[in-house]
Order: sequence, then structure tokens, then C-alpha cells
Amino acid sequence: MSRLFYLSFILSICCFSMPLKSVGNTSAQAVSIRQPTEIPGYYDVQRYLLLELQNPSIQIHIYGTNKVSTWMLNNVSQMVENMIGGMNYSSHRVQFNDHHIFVITDDDPDVPYSSLPGHKNTGTIGFTILNQTIICAEAVDTLYPDLPPTWRAWDTPIHEFGHAIEHTLALETYSDSVFRSAEPNYNQSVAREYFSWFSETWFDANLSKNTNGKTLQEKRSALHQSIFGYYNWLFNFNDNWKPSCTGRPDPIQSIDLKQLVGQYERQSIENDWHKINISLQQNGTLKWRNDAGREWTIFQSNGELFTGNDCPYGIKPVQVIRKNNKLAGLKFLNDTFTRQLNPVQVEDILGQYKRLPVTNGWHSVSITQDDSGVIWWSNENGFSWPIYLNNEIENELTLVTDTDSPYGYQVITIEKNGLGMVTALKFNSELYTKQ
Ligand SMILES: [Zn+2]
Repeated sequence: MSRLFYLSFILSICCFSMPLKSVGNTSAQAVSIRQPTEIPGYYDVQRYLLLELQNPSIQIHIYGTNKVSTWMLNNVSQMVENMIGGMNYSSHRVQFNDHHIFVITDDDPDVPYSSLPGHKNTGTIGFTILNQTIICAEAVDTLYPDLPPTWRAWDTPIHEFGHAIEHTLALETYSDSVFRSAEPNYNQSVAREYFSWFSETWFDANLSKNTNGKTLQEKRSALHQSIFGYYNWLFNFNDNWKPSCTGRPDPIQSIDLKQLVGQYERQSIENDWHKINISLQQNGTLKWRNDAGREWTIFQSNGELFTGNDCPYGIKPVQVIRKNNKLAGLKFLNDTFTRQLNPVQVEDILGQYKRLPVTNGWHSVSITQDDSGVIWWSNENGFSWPIYLNNEIENELTLVTDTDSPYGYQVITIEKNGLGMVTALKFNSELYTKQ
């Protein structure tokens, strides 16, 4: 990575180093999540994590907007805990009491008071804003989209929090004197970046760089003597914390609601509310209906499910439980509802099917059952072979493996509509639509 590219990347989206004045603390929004006082209501925060540190006792407030994952909140919290916790002086640590951290996404507004479009990261007195989109992800600079994406690991969050540290502790003058003399190509116009850049190095943020087997302490010791002295004064040299990208969840993907249609039961059924049916509604939402006849809407928002306003419990998350990548159940409030395998009945499958367009007799198929119970796949060219319902794997038919089938063993997938009716069979990568 060239220095020039590095500079332009950082400058364009990372930095907002001018300390901001408070714009008041009268937030009218009465929500359970504490609202930021510095930029009240600026971000639509949906998640909140309180980080409490001791000696001295301080509180740091970490917020997430709608699409921000729990992993991000937890890992940002760890980063802040270690960067502040690694400070040598309690007189420094205490100044971060009540610092606000906003973890946002590309869908959220740019940082306040910025004239740079796409500017979504900043760190200053009182608050830090981090875009989760470029934490441990291949990121493209939105201002320079033609530049190749670069694995950024924890560069940006540590960089931004570095800005917050420099301004909160009023280190600007100290930084200027250290970096002006230590950096051979010191550039006054980016004077406020140096502290953040070397914070990345001190905390080994750039996980993509080859570390050549060096320990964190060896890398720190390799810094220019006065830069080393600066960070060694601020931070504990022996502190070994390094950020990690392990476990970062994939970008949020939407749930295919059709797959959720079916019957569910609580593990122990104590009343009619514990047996439920999920169906797909015409407006694209799901309907949760229990055996007591009560029903409400389930809607999807950014890859997560929630009950609607019509639910007697209000808007609450509904968690999809998967086992071996297959839908296993739903968790709602404190109850787990296990999916009931709802085996397809033979009668649901019988009938005529066509692969469109029909270009030969193999594309017109009848599914029939003979007197002995065997199900037959018969095409208009006069070929037929038995198929079997496999109720172990829901929605799958198994074709025989013997020479009766010209295709050998294959799985036929049953497609159903939102009401659970069979609409098509998928066989040999082709869709046979029920007539
Ligand atoms: Zn910066």
C-alpha cells in the first residue's frame, strides 16, 4: 500500500478531527436507549452497550444503529476497553467518562457537520463514530471507488479512537513537537493524523500486514525513539491486546420468508399459545397464528425478524434457529418453538407436471400411486420409474438408485407456496410445474 493511497484513504473518510461544541442535551425522545447528549437524536440508535471501567470508575456508552451486529458492539467495546484500560494514568482514563461511541453503517447519515459526502468515521472530544462496514471487511473508499479495496482490519476504529484520545487529552501540541522532529517527511497539513496513524501501529491494528513473527513489544520498540517514548508514556508497553477479526459475521442477508412457513411447537406445550402456524401473507409479511386463534404479523427488517404492532407483546425480535444450516425453529421472548416436520402427503404430490417450455415427451410428467402404494414418475414418452417420499428430510423426494431410473439416484425438491401447497418439483435442475 503506497503512502499516498494510505493518506488519501484516511483523509477522505476517516478523519474528522475538529473538536465539536455541544449542541445541547435536550433530547425529547423517551426511549429505553440512552440518547447521545452531544448529537441528540442524530443517529437512529437501536442498540446500546454500557462499558464500565474501574479505577477510576467510568462509563462509556456504545450505540449501534439498526444493522449493526452484536459482534461489532462487543468488539468495539473490547477495543475501547483495551485502549483506555491500557493507559498508564488514571488522570487520562477518567477523561473518557461518558464518551459516546456510535457504530453505524453505510445506510446511516454522514457524520454531523461534515462537508465530505460519504464521511462516516470520526473521533473527537465526547464521541467517536465508526462505520462497521469497513471494520474487518474489504472496503472501497466511496470517494475513490476506482482504487482497489483494501483489507482494513481494525485500522479505522483504532485510528478514529486515536483522534478521540489526542483531542480528549489535549495532546495536539505534544504530537506536533514529537512528529515534526521524528517524521522525515512531516506534512503540517495533516498534522492531526500522525497520532492516529501511530496508534494503529502501537495496537497492531493492521492485521493484514506481515508481522514477520515479531511480538507486539518488538514492533513497539522498533518505533522512532521519540515516538516510542510518547506512546510508552501514554500506554502500557507490556499490554498485549491486539484487535481480532475472528468471528466477524457475514454482512446481513435477508431471510427467505417462504422457508419459515410451517408448524412450530414449544418444547413443552402448556396451552394453545404454544402451538403455532406461520404463513406467508400477500403483502410479503408472515402471520404468526397460535392454536388459541390469536394472530399477529412478523416482519423482516435488515435481516432480522420482529413481531408487529398487532402483537400483544409489542414489537419484539423473533430469532431464527438453524441447525446444520437448516431451519430448526424460532425463538420468541424466552420460548423456543421447534419446527414440526410437516411431511408432504402422497396425495399432495399426485398430478400432472410440465417442464416449460415442453419440447419433448420427457417434459410432461404424471405422478401416480399404484395399488401397492408405490409412487411412479411417468413421462409421455412411456418411461416410468418409482420415487419415494423421504420424510426425514423435509421437502425432498428420493428417486430410486437402480436401473429403473435413467438418471440414477437423485433428489427431487418439492416447492410449496405460502399456504403449504405443492406447486412444483425440481428435478435434475429443472422445474416441473404442477398443472
Ligand atoms: Zn484521521
